[in-house]
Amino acid sequence: MSLQRPNIESMQGYTPGEQLNDAGVIKLNTNENPYPPAPQVGAALAAIDPAALRRYPPPLADEFRDVAARLNGVDRDNIIPTNGGDELLRLVLTTFVEPSDTVVVAQPSYSLYPVLAEVAGCNLVQVPLQADWNLASDFKAALQTAKLCILVNPHAPSGHLTSVDSLRDLALCFDGILMIDEAYVDFIDPELNYDSMPLIRELDNVVVLRTLSKGYSLAGLRFGYGIGAKSLIEPMLLKTRDSYNTDLIAQRLACAALQAEDYARANWARVRESRATLAARLAALGLKSEPSQSNFILCRVPDNPGAKALYEALKARKILVRYFDQPGLRDRLRISIGTEEENAALATAIATILSAD
Ligand SMILES: *Cc1c(COP(=O)(O)O)cnc(C)c1O
Repeated sequence: MSLQRPNIESMQGYTPGEQLNDAGVIKLNTNENPYPPAPQVGAALAAIDPAALRRYPPPLADEFRDVAARLNGVDRDNIIPTNGGDELLRLVLTTFVEPSDTVVVAQPSYSLYPVLAEVAGCNLVQVPLQADWNLASDFKAALQTAKLCILVNPHAPSGHLTSVDSLRDLALCFDGILMIDEAYVDFIDPELNYDSMPLIRELDNVVVLRTLSKGYSLAGLRFGYGIGAKSLIEPMLLKTRDSYNTDLIAQRLACAALQAEDYARANWARVRESRATLAARLAALGLKSEPSQSNFILCRVPDNPGAKALYEALKARKILVRYFDQPGLRDRLRISIGTEEENAALATAIATILSAD
C-alpha cells in the first residue's frame, strides 16, 4: 500500500532537461547563459571566509532585498528572495491557493506549473494559446473563476512577448493573483521599453518572478526573487517561506551579480545579437523561428527530417537541443542561444544532417 497522498501517487514528476556531463557536449537545451557570471561574483565567492558559515545567514536577506529594490525602483517590502525562481512558484501556491481553487495557465508553457499545481492538489485549467502565441479570446473568461493565473513573459517556449498593457488588462479583469514569470526578461530588446514595475505600484494582485539563473549566468546558485505588493510579499516572507531559504553564499553572490550592472547588460546584448544571427542562419536552412525576446528560439523543422529526428541526429553529434512531445510543438525545436562558436557548430551540423537526408 502506498503512503503517498492520492494526488502525489497519481502524478508524474518534473522532467528536467538532459544534463550530459561530457566535456565535448554543446548544450543548447536548458536555456543556461553561455557566458560566465560577472568577475565580481567570483571575487565575492573568494572573499567568503568559511568561518562565516558557522552562523545562520541573514534570515530575510535584507541586503539583497535592498539591492533588488533599488534595481527595480520599488521598496524592500516589495521583494522576497527565494531559492531559485521555482521556490517562488511553490510559495505562491502554498500561500494563496486552496485545493478547491482554480489555477489558470496558458498551454504550452513552463512544464513545472502543472507539476506544482498537482502537488498542491488544486484544479488546473490550461488554456491553449493562439497559433501566433497570443492569448486566446477565451483566456479572460477562464480567469473569472481563477484564484491564480501564471503567465510566463516573454513566453516559453516561443519567446513571444505580451505587452504590459495587456497584462494590466488581465490583472484588472479578475479577483485572483496574476503571477508574471519573467525568467527571461533580461533578454528583451531594450528598445521595446518593457517594464512591468508600474503594475506592482498600481495593483495589489500582481507578483513578478525573477531569477538569476538565466540573465546572470547563475543557474547553479539557485537564486531568484519575487516582486509584489507588500500585502502579497509579507505572508510569504514571514509565514510560508522555509526559515533560511537562501544561504549565506548565495545571498552574497546574488548581491554581487545584480550590482555588476554593466557586465550584465553587455552579456544580454551579446545574447541578443547572437539570437538574431542564429535565427537568420537557421531560416536560411529552412528552419524558421518565431521572433524571440528570450535567450532561445523556437524553430519549425520541415517534415523531412522532422523535429524529433533532427533532435536525435544532433544528439548523436553531441549537440543537445530541446524537443517537446506535446501538442503544437512536435514540429519544432527549442534552441538556447550559445556562444558564437556553439551556434556556428549547430548551424553547420544542421546543414550537414539536412543535406545527407
Ligand atoms: C528558468 C525558469 C524559471 C526559474 O528557474 P530557477 O532556476 O528556479 O530560478 C522560472 N520559469 C521559467 C519559465 C523558467 O524558464
